[in-house]
Amino acid sequence: MTNLLDLHHVSKTYTRGLINAKATVALQEISLTLKQEDPTILTVAGESGSGKTTLAMLLLGFITPTTGQIIYRGKDITALQGEERMAFRREVQAVFQDPFAVFNPFYTVDHLLSVPIKRFKLATNAKAARAKMDEALTAVGLRPEDVLGRYPHQLSGGQRQRINVARALLLKPRLLIADEPVSMVDASLRASILETLRNLQRDHGVSIIYITHDLTTAYHIANAIIVLYRGGVMEAGDVDQVIKSPQHPYTRLLVDSIPWPALDRRWGTDMIKAREAGSSSVGCPFRSRCPMAMEQCKTQPPLYKINKTQAAACYLHAGHPEIAAERLTELLPVRTQIEA
Ligand code: ADP
Ligand code: MG
Repeated sequence: MTNLLDLHHVSKTYTRGLINAKATVALQEISLTLKQEDPTILTVAGESGSGKTTLAMLLLGFITPTTGQIIYRGKDITALQGEERMAFRREVQAVFQDPFAVFNPFYTVDHLLSVPIKRFKLATNAKAARAKMDEALTAVGLRPEDVLGRYPHQLSGGQRQRINVARALLLKPRLLIADEPVSMVDASLRASILETLRNLQRDHGVSIIYITHDLTTAYHIANAIIVLYRGGVMEAGDVDQVIKSPQHPYTRLLVDSIPWPALDRRWGTDMIKAREAGSSSVGCPFRSRCPMAMEQCKTQPPLYKINKTQAAACYLHAGHPEIAAERLTELLPVRTQIEA
């Protein structure tokens, strides 16, 4: 079966200014695969500026890669036209950080939900359209009578974000790109919205790329994780494995920077230096902050396969076999393990 999604060595460089053009490498050599037959939740984690939103924009086809290819169900997304392009627009949906972003304050929820129904001709009459809305709202844990007919300001942040998810769900997507979907939602509502996303994967077979700076939520929702730093993959693997036993100094920093009631361990990351600006773009991107940095780190480390479900791009693991970036996703588990 063709894969749902293949990224082949995708890089994105932004250039600003015409005279003194300044280039920012936002993503470097990202390869990954999602299979159609195994809907999964893959987390892409990293601090602000690590290239997460750039990846989301690329996956949605809003921007194009500087080098590399993004293949959706066997076709390069930059070459999609006509019906194929329409199918891509329907099947790949997004939920963004700001639950207000897609709302026009002058339109009711009904209007917001009816736009995609009309655009993609999902219903032939008003009754069928209403049935679709009810179905999508119910799937995200909302009661249609509580939200239909209301204006955005009459809804809570949590309700708005659920409506965003419902709007994506209406289109029966195969892939949902969720870029920090709960970072602007009250902490008390986060868990239930994440639960909703997990149900979409489990009950509706939607694959989800969950983008976050917050490893706690990744741990609760995802099967697999890719850790980015300045656009490069630092570590990847099974989410439990990576979070409980991080192997890259950067992942250790991330894991240690948040309180973990369930995990009683420390790595002594106080040694990790503050982020330095303007360091060189060759070699390991993390080396200027890394307490373990060695001479070798001036050249880009390959990914080392540390165990069956984990790899890290760090010379500390040089004894392990190397794994090609495009084979990284072979390490990633696909089934949801449900945990409390
Ligand atoms: P994240 O979502 O992880 O915070 P982004 O993908 O937004 O990261 O940004 C990655 C890097 O690319 C950052 O250094 C950011 O400043 C830069 N960047 C993002 N968008 C643009 C743009 N449109 N033009 C120039 N640089 C950009
Ligand atoms: Mg972002």
